[in-house]
Amino acid sequence: TAGFCFGVDRAIKLIEKLLSEGKKVATLGPIIHNPQVIEDFKNRGVDIVEHPSEVKNGAVLVLRTHGVTEDVLEEVKNSGVEFIDAACPFVNKIHKIVRDNSNENVVTIILGDPSHPEVHGIKSCAKGESYVVKDSSELEDLLQKNNLFSQKELILVEQTTFSVKEWEKSLKKVKLLCTNAKIFDTICSATNERQEEAMRLAKTCDAMIIVGGRQSSNTAKLKAVCENCCPTYLIETARELSDIDLSGCKKVGVTAGASTPAAIIKEVLSTMSESTNA
Ligand code: SF4
Repeated sequence: TAGFCFGVDRAIKLIEKLLSEGKKVATLGPIIHNPQVIEDFKNRGVDIVEHPSEVKNGAVLVLRTHGVTEDVLEEVKNSGVEFIDAACPFVNKIHKIVRDNSNENVVTIILGDPSHPEVHGIKSCAKGESYVVKDSSELEDLLQKNNLFSQKELILVEQTTFSVKEWEKSLKKVKLLCTNAKIFDTICSATNERQEEAMRLAKTCDAMIIVGGRQSSNTAKLKAVCENCCPTYLIETARELSDIDLSGCKKVGVTAGASTPAAIIKEVLSTMSESTNA
């Protein structure tokens, strides 16, 4: 399953299509978390802007795969700039769950990275109190400190790239500490499959190479699950392989994040084969 997931593939194809039609394109922030893909688009004239007012020459503004906040979406709609929302349908589904199930008396809890743009977008859809916790122990703290939650309705969702293991631990805590929680498992299946597959592979290897952007959340999660099984190295390109000592390893596994292009994965594999054969 290594490499582009459905949501990233869809966003990349969308930009490729606009470019092939001769349109000017700008993205609101980086479209995905892979520096090589972003660099390639930059070289082909795709601008990265922070605000719709920065869009030049009638370019079409593309909104990133992991969604934007409600305020930003409103701002873009009111700006008069032509835009396409490339948010992944799985992310949009979480926005809809939070919008439809929250009100001023409902507490929304999001399991995920509080600094990640996807989490900001999800949080912005909550109509009442909302909290972000990064793991099951932060969740336990939050629930224990806020006895009031026991009198309120509560909804629980996760960031699409949240760790499956952490989610399972969190569910046990929630079921123990509150009886009134509505639970929505919103981990994306692409993330889930990749994590399980990577772990199975790591268990049979002496080392693992994870190919992907250092800013990519799902790539970081792959590294985290593999690290429990064997020494694991994260690289963005094949060039970084020379910094890793794999001399004592008989079997090395390779996997890649959901925003890593196939060309980079192939280059890593062929560089590794060359050094194995040398
Ligand atoms: Fe969509 Fe899942 Fe890919 Fe994120 S990892 S873009 S949620 S398919």
